[in-house]
Amino acid sequence: MKEIIEEAKQVLMPMYNRYDIVLDHGEGVYVYDTDGKQYLDFGAGIAVNAIGYSNEKYKSALKNQIDKLLHTSNLFYNEPTLKAAKKFLKASQMDKVFFTNSGTEAVEGAIKLARKYYYKKHGTKDSEIIAMNHSFHGRSMGSVSVTGTKKYREPFEPLIGGVVFAEFNDLESVKAKINEKTCAIIMETFQGEGGIYPAEESFIKGVRALCDEKDIVLILDEIQCGMGRTGKMFTYQQYGILPDIMTSAKALGCGVPIGAFAAVNKVAYAFEAGDHGSTYACNPFVTEAASTVFDIFEELHILDHVKEVGSYLSEQLDQLMKDKSSIVAHRGYGLMQGIELNIPVQDVIKKCQEKGLLLVAAGTKIIRFVPPLIITNENVDQMIAILSQCL
Ligand SMILES: *Cc1c(COP(=O)(O)O)cnc(C)c1O
Repeated sequence: MKEIIEEAKQVLMPMYNRYDIVLDHGEGVYVYDTDGKQYLDFGAGIAVNAIGYSNEKYKSALKNQIDKLLHTSNLFYNEPTLKAAKKFLKASQMDKVFFTNSGTEAVEGAIKLARKYYYKKHGTKDSEIIAMNHSFHGRSMGSVSVTGTKKYREPFEPLIGGVVFAEFNDLESVKAKINEKTCAIIMETFQGEGGIYPAEESFIKGVRALCDEKDIVLILDEIQCGMGRTGKMFTYQQYGILPDIMTSAKALGCGVPIGAFAAVNKVAYAFEAGDHGSTYACNPFVTEAASTVFDIFEELHILDHVKEVGSYLSEQLDQLMKDKSSIVAHRGYGLMQGIELNIPVQDVIKKCQEKGLLLVAAGTKIIRFVPPLIITNENVDQMIAILSQCL
């Protein structure tokens, strides 16, 4: 591993502090490094590998598609994209979808669509977007512009204009930013990177009502919290509300790079041919993957499973917090939970790695638990045992 790491450091751009582990293959909820050491994976490649590793049905669908056709461009139709779109729209309760190559591109598409909707309605180019403090929407310029964390934004300014920030879970702060130029409000339904904060019901319903009243487009970013992670296909379904535009990625492809933005018809029709596009997007390889992921979710009754194992994880983390003074808070539900520590998070994560457990941080104080959605109660027990020792 040392050799690979040393060489990689010479050739890869240095914007990640990678761990000294070279991963090689995976099976179920375990990954293995090049020395054959096994790790129980509670990070899932940052909330991506929802069906775990090496799922047979998934692999064979992808192998078949490789033999048939990988790429067509969006100048033509292909069947896997149609299948994936139908399943995505049924799951999200949206009317129209466009698949992208990543989460950040889904957010870019959502922002462009919201602006176009406003432009068509008003004929003016002065629209404003309200975004949330402590949000995270990706690393491209549009997404960074609506991300409410200074260190992600400042070195890259000037960003896109017309963005103002409000406080997540504070309806009055959102109200205070609304004016006649407000075209969209964008937020994660459940903040991940910002520290594992679910939207409060009164807040998100209040924002929905404000958007209805003033014909403002509500964009909900479900890139991390969507695809079953909280026990519903998409987290806004916990509140019985719908956004006007929503974004997805991460677990949508369970490992192949695919994202999506979807919208209700009223908003989706603002886009005309030529307004947006992407060469790779909607290619039959990645859409076959997403389509198969929806089938596997159904076969495995993933949503019911997440509710069950999620409450078990919740109980166990509550108990751990009682036992350990280093845990100061426990938040979240389903398989999107976090604990806040008063000791350095990276030290704990590295100790856990030595003992064969992969965890992922959110910021500098929080460990987030975003495992494959197929983990069992026994896996939770294994994780708690190691984490408890390391704390
Ligand atoms: C990860 C993430 C993104 C960005 O997705 P990428 O695929 O990394 O571009 C956007 N929004 C949220 C909420 C995310 O968690």
